[in-house]
Amino acid sequence: MGLRVVVVGVPGVGKTTVVEGLVSEYSGAKLVNFGTMMLKTGLSLKWIKNRDDIRKLTVERQRRLQKVAASKISKMKDRTVVVDTHLFIRTKEGFWPGLPFDVVRALRPTHLVLVQASPEEVAKRRAADSRRYRDSVTMDDLAEELGLARSFLAVSSTLTGAPMLMVNNSEGKAADVASEIASMLRGAVA
Ligand code: ATP
Ligand code: AMP
Ligand code: MG
Repeated sequence: MGLRVVVVGVPGVGKTTVVEGLVSEYSGAKLVNFGTMMLKTGLSLKWIKNRDDIRKLTVERQRRLQKVAASKISKMKDRTVVVDTHLFIRTKEGFWPGLPFDVVRALRPTHLVLVQASPEEVAKRRAADSRRYRDSVTMDDLAEELGLARSFLAVSSTLTGAPMLMVNNSEGKAADVASEIASMLRGAVA
């Protein structure tokens, strides 16, 4: 059976760290970062300068980049594909879905994985990561985002029929979380 694993979570929770660990221990897994796909198109159109500019575009432009990325990923033929992406985006026009129906249908997930951490951990990781220009939000805003993530996840699970696994990326435990997901996937193909 082919696996299409869609890994989601709020910005700075540690998705990319976890999925990089996952693909290094789950042989044959192909990692694709949805935002990188959007970035490439956005750069070629000269709409943005970096990946953290994407969410500042109009929703109409973000939607155009989102559709192109989903279409490219839908054509990937690898046996195991791990997609690093977002359930929703905090835009100037409000929270906007990262996996609307056409996108989640194109991705065809077999498994949905939500990476979680406490609001305090997420705030600390956002502040400490100088490679990115993440939004600084209040602890209340972060708690809201973490709660919203579970709601959006349940919608994606219901739309696709894919099970949703929620993992806790506690401080210093990213490698353990990667192993937990790898072990779940091994069980899924056994
Ligand atoms: P984005 O959605 O913005 O791409 P992300 O969810 O991919 O964010 P990462 O870039 O993986 O987040 O991680 C954000 C920061 O948190 C990085 O500096 C990373 O090294 C750190 N980090 C990730 N997981 C952990 C962990 N378990 N313990 C401590 N630091 C962590
Ligand atoms: P990331 O490095 O995962 O933060 O991806 C860069 C940016 O791409 C994110 O901050 C979002 O603006 C955008 N992005 C990623 N996945 C999606 C998605 N499924 N739908 C819309 N935008 C996305
Ligand atoms: Mg990331």
